[in-house]
Amino acid sequence: MSDSVVSVSGATREQLDRAEDHSAHNYSPLPVVIESGAGCWVKDVDGVDYLDVLAGYSALNFGHAHPALVRVAREQLGRLTLTSRAFQHDRFAQYCEDLSRLCRKEAVLPMNTGAEAVETALKLARKWGYDVKGVPPGRAEVVTCSGNFHGRTISIVGFSSDPDAYTGFGPYPAGFVSVEYGNADAFESAITDDTVAVLLEPIQGEAGVLVPPVGYLAAVREVCTRRGVLMIADEIQSGLGRTGETFACDHENVTPDIYVLGKALGGGLVPVSAVVADWPVMRVIGPGQHGSTFGGNPLACAVGSAVVALLETGEYQERSRRLGAYLHGMLRELPVRHVAEVRGRGLWAGVQLAEGMPSARAVCERLLARRVLAKDAHEGTIRIAPPLVVERDELTWAVEQLADALAE
Ligand SMILES: *Cc1c(COP(=O)(O)O)cnc(C)c1O
Repeated sequence: MSDSVVSVSGATREQLDRAEDHSAHNYSPLPVVIESGAGCWVKDVDGVDYLDVLAGYSALNFGHAHPALVRVAREQLGRLTLTSRAFQHDRFAQYCEDLSRLCRKEAVLPMNTGAEAVETALKLARKWGYDVKGVPPGRAEVVTCSGNFHGRTISIVGFSSDPDAYTGFGPYPAGFVSVEYGNADAFESAITDDTVAVLLEPIQGEAGVLVPPVGYLAAVREVCTRRGVLMIADEIQSGLGRTGETFACDHENVTPDIYVLGKALGGGLVPVSAVVADWPVMRVIGPGQHGSTFGGNPLACAVGSAVVALLETGEYQERSRRLGAYLHGMLRELPVRHVAEVRGRGLWAGVQLAEGMPSARAVCERLLARRVLAKDAHEGTIRIAPPLVVERDELTWAVEQLADALAE
């Protein structure tokens, strides 16, 4: 971090150095050490406040320490936190019912992290392929998309197109093919008798907040229905209010066969993920065929139900629509010599820097010095995804800081 433009205090430097000495170097965090947070703001160990416009990659859609979520979690912490699924607990039925209702689906399979939920959806689709579709044993194929990000397990990185993600981790499981994202014809051409599912992000977050062409999701849905292939929507980052609807698929009135959810489902408090589908699909998994020690634990269920309750008010989706339009309007005013393109939907934007600009990382370091926490996505994109509780004035201020950082 010697090339950083950010000067750090002794207290921060000491924390960064100790982490460098004793933690794997699988991230390169910006040089800030956060100690507390509320709403859209966090405070570092020197008492400096920052506006968080990353929101834990959308895990913090409701902001840091949302009072309703913290209250439910505190109450549950004192009562019951884990039974394992060997025994049922009194939060389980309610949570599964709540999340099914939100998704307009019949059944929930609870897991913990996003990658686990993606793996779960893939297992579910394969088993459906063998048991229901009649694919010969060992032949199931899943179509994936270029530029995808679905997590970090071996099978998931095996179908990543990002060399950093997959290099050095093979051999990878077979049964995956990749097609161009945003091209429904390419997807249909890749379908064979053995194809069980397509896995896609309705908007690709890690790829730089890439919004597919209008009509893509609806076209994929039509192809899936006509060809007997399951549509799996990874809404881990795009879902739960981020784009101005409960799910990004809602923008095209598309209902996938399988939703994969995570991140904001745990309110930024606990890891909570889920696969949600109707019974004709969910039924193929029986006792002993899949599970997780912590999946569907009482604390996760209590928080998950509270998250569903927040979303069912519609307030967060509405804020994302209204404030998102305001944010995108401001970002589009940034000079073309600095910004080549602004992508995204709702309170989610990928700001693509113009040719010749410093790296997105360097701009994020300048933003840090201006007390705005943002993160680059790949080389040239700065992603802006504040908690959905952000206020208009805070967005105005953040974009002013971005404009100044770009002009530096
Ligand atoms: C973050 C993310 C994942 C992985 O979630 P983890 O909880 O980090 O395993 C999968 N898919 C998408 C679209 C994501 O944004």
